[in-house]
Order: sequence, then C-alpha cells, then structure tokens
Amino acid sequence: MQDPFGRAITYLRVSVTDRCDFRCVYCMSEDMSFLPKAELLTLEELDRVCGAFVRLGVRKLRMTGGEPLVRRNVMSLFHSLSRHLSSGALDELTLTTNGSQLAKYAAELKDIGVRRVNVSLDTLDATKFTAITRWGKLDKVLEGIAAAKAAGLHVKINTVALKGVNDGEFDRLIEWCGGEGMDLTFIEVMPMGEVGEQRTDQYLPLSAVRGNLMQRWTLSDLPDRTGGPARYVRVGETGGRLGFITPLTHNFCESCNRVRLTCTGTLYMCLGQEDAADLRAPIRKSEADELLDAAIREAISRKPKGHDFIIDRRHDRPAVARHMSVTGG
Ligand code: SAM
Ligand code: SF4
Repeated sequence: MQDPFGRAITYLRVSVTDRCDFRCVYCMSEDMSFLPKAELLTLEELDRVCGAFVRLGVRKLRMTGGEPLVRRNVMSLFHSLSRHLSSGALDELTLTTNGSQLAKYAAELKDIGVRRVNVSLDTLDATKFTAITRWGKLDKVLEGIAAAKAAGLHVKINTVALKGVNDGEFDRLIEWCGGEGMDLTFIEVMPMGEVGEQRTDQYLPLSAVRGNLMQRWTLSDLPDRTGGPARYVRVGETGGRLGFITPLTHNFCESCNRVRLTCTGTLYMCLGQEDAADLRAPIRKSEADELLDAAIREAISRKPKGHDFIIDRRHDRPAVARHMSVTGG
C-alpha cells in the first residue's frame, strides 16, 4: 500500500483499549470518560482487521492503548496474531505497555514470538512515579521489566520529557538503561486532548535536552531507524543506544510508514490530524473482506502529509481533541 506521497504503509498500531490502570498527567485527565464497552471491536474483529492489513502489506503490528495488557483476554489476540509471524507474512508483533502487568505476561509473550517490548517509564523515583501516573506503583513496573528481560525480551524504555518533573533525572535514566542493556528513547510531549494542565508547563524541547546531555555524555549519531520516528545516538560511556522523538522541534513525517487503528475500528492516518476512516461498518456489513479491504485502501489514499503540532504561548490548546490513549501512542 502506498499513500499519495509515495510512502509505503507497512506498520499498523492498534489501540486495543482506551482504558488504563494509570492516569499519566500528560496523557489523560484525572476523570477520563471511557468508551462504552458496546462500541468496542471484539478481539475477533480486531484480529480480522489486523489480518486484512497484513494481507495488504503491513509487516509490523504494535498493540498499544490505553494499556493493552488490561484488556480482558488480550493474550488470545496475541496468540491468534502470531500465526502471521509463523507464516512469514509479518516481521514483527510487539507492544507498548506501562509495564504494570508485564510480570504476568512476559513469558507468554516471548513464547508466542514477541521479541521486543517498549515500556513507558518517566522516572526512577517512586514518589514521583506515583505523581506522574496518578495511580501507578514503580515497583510493579520494575518487576515487569525484570520479568521481560528474564523471559528474553528486549526492552526499550520510553520516557516523556517533562519540564520541571523529570528533567533532573535524564543522566540517571541513561546510566540505568545503559547498565541494564536497554535502549532509551526520550519523547517530546504532544498536544493531544485536554489533560487538565497547560502543555506549555509540561513541554521540554528535546533539542535543548540533547545539548545539555552532550556536556556530560559522548553522543555519536547512529544511522539506525527502527521503523519509527526516533533518531538514535550511541552513548560512548555506557555503550547504550539513546533515541529522541521530536515531533515538535523536528518532525519526520516524510518517512512515516504507519497508520493507527482505535479499539472502535476507526483508522487514523496521522496521529496529529482529525481525518479518519471507519472500518467497523465494513467489517460488520459483510463477512467477506472486500468492503474492508476497499475501505482500508481508500483511507490510505488520503493519508495526510504530516501533523501540525505546535506548543507555545499562542498555541496552548490541543492540536487534536482526542487523547493519546485513544489513537494509541
Ligand atoms: N499505556 C501504554 C504505555 O504507557 O506505554 C501504551 C499507550 S501510551 C498512550 C503510549 C506512549 O505514549 C507512552 O510512551 C506514553 O508515555 C506516550 N504518551 C502519552 N501521551 C502523550 C503525549 N501527550 N505526548 C507524548 N507522548 C505521550
Ligand atoms: Fe495509561 Fe500509557 Fe496513557 Fe499512562 S501513557 S495513562 S500508562 S495509556
């Protein structure tokens, strides 16, 4: 599948639920209202849509959310999707998780062919962790990360850079990840949904962060792209890989290879734009996949060029109304 700008679409991210056991301050408001369960695609329907994308050329699937591991019976979806790994149609099946349930599922994920997981962790300070996630416990997440490593999964840590919150901890995170053999990626906060805080209060441009880190660490550019928007450097002192996702200070939309499906079957062709396609109707209208395939192709044919995220004093409103947990970060 090719979009109008000649980009091959080979990567589907699926938000399997908009619900979560945390309420991170940059992701959700404290009193989120979630989608009624009746509106969700069943796990079988999600499996069917993923299958259609794989048939149409998607080589990588990432389950996300909300918190993917809190959806009831989600492992049955992973099991079913792993058939595309066995057949060779899919290169990678993976997930992004907050790690709270990882201790329970790590071994099973490894068994079905998941090789890597992204775990979101913004601080190593237990008190701060509970403040950022509003509800989370750091110990549980560290336990989940340890279980993932013990099961043989490669773990990448994602850290959202938050002004005045975790900006004093970047060195410690680099050291810790280096020592644990985990990649680390810093992410700029994106203006998605009302979260009850001003984005200008949260936003820390990574261009400045990188400049500061260079005073302490030897950072050498790497050509690696893991199919994502991160730019990587090698940290000389730890040997670890460090990524920067900078949708605001530098966007990489020109090489975008992905689209995102929500748990209600809405396909967003860009994280930062409102335009979307409904795939639930074609799924439910016919048991054959012609309508679904046609709807997917039509959606890809109008994938926008890129997002228009801006955070400054004049632009302190969400660029899009939906929260990251809806589209799946
Ligand atoms: N619950 C899982 C987790 O936290 O990893 C998966 C879903 S979460 C929405 C995916 C990623 O999006 C996380 O790394 C999270 O930190 C990031 N995220 C959420 N809201 C964001 C925002 N407004 N700007 C930048 N990153 C955000
Ligand atoms: Fe939940 Fe992930 Fe959003 Fe935090 S970032 S509230 S863990 S979905």
